[in-house]
Amino acid sequence: MKCPFCHQNELKVTDSRDAPEMNAIRRRRECQRCLRRFTTFETVELTIQVLKRDGSYEDFQKQKLIHGLNAACRHTTISHEQVVHIAEQITMDCMDRQVREITTPELGEIVMNQLKNLDPVAYIRFACVYRRFTDISELMDAIQAVQSENDGPGKKNNAKVKKHSHLKSPLV
Ligand SMILES: [Zn+2]
Repeated sequence: MKCPFCHQNELKVTDSRDAPEMNAIRRRRECQRCLRRFTTFETVELTIQVLKRDGSYEDFQKQKLIHGLNAACRHTTISHEQVVHIAEQITMDCMDRQVREITTPELGEIVMNQLKNLDPVAYIRFACVYRRFTDISELMDAIQAVQSENDGPGKKNNAKVKKHSHLKSPLV
């Protein structure tokens, strides 16, 4: 760390205390050259680990999610702004729920639940990538499911739970 005033790195910590309201440690530092003082906060850096199908982990990257969503939403009613919003919403949800680890299929389910109510075409495209349909009947099932959901009354809530279990194919 460098002094924000003179940019050299001989710093002395003069005080260190808990800042529970920010879940952080607050430190007063004094530059040994210009003698100016400033405060730093040490916080936990929250990263979510994504467990991939091959068993390896990678850091959750919002950018990657946006990329996948953009591909599914191209030429649909969903704008790029909406894509960014969805990705931000999902990221915030995970952080709010203090998720530390999520599997690729779980992440896919969350995204699909968001897309399902917005645009069925984007939903199916995304489902194709995430579910890796191996035969056409699975794909048809998914299409029929989203169709009947969009036709039915009170589609948003009660259907979601039912559909979720229905779509949980042995593939995932
Ligand atoms: Zn300084």
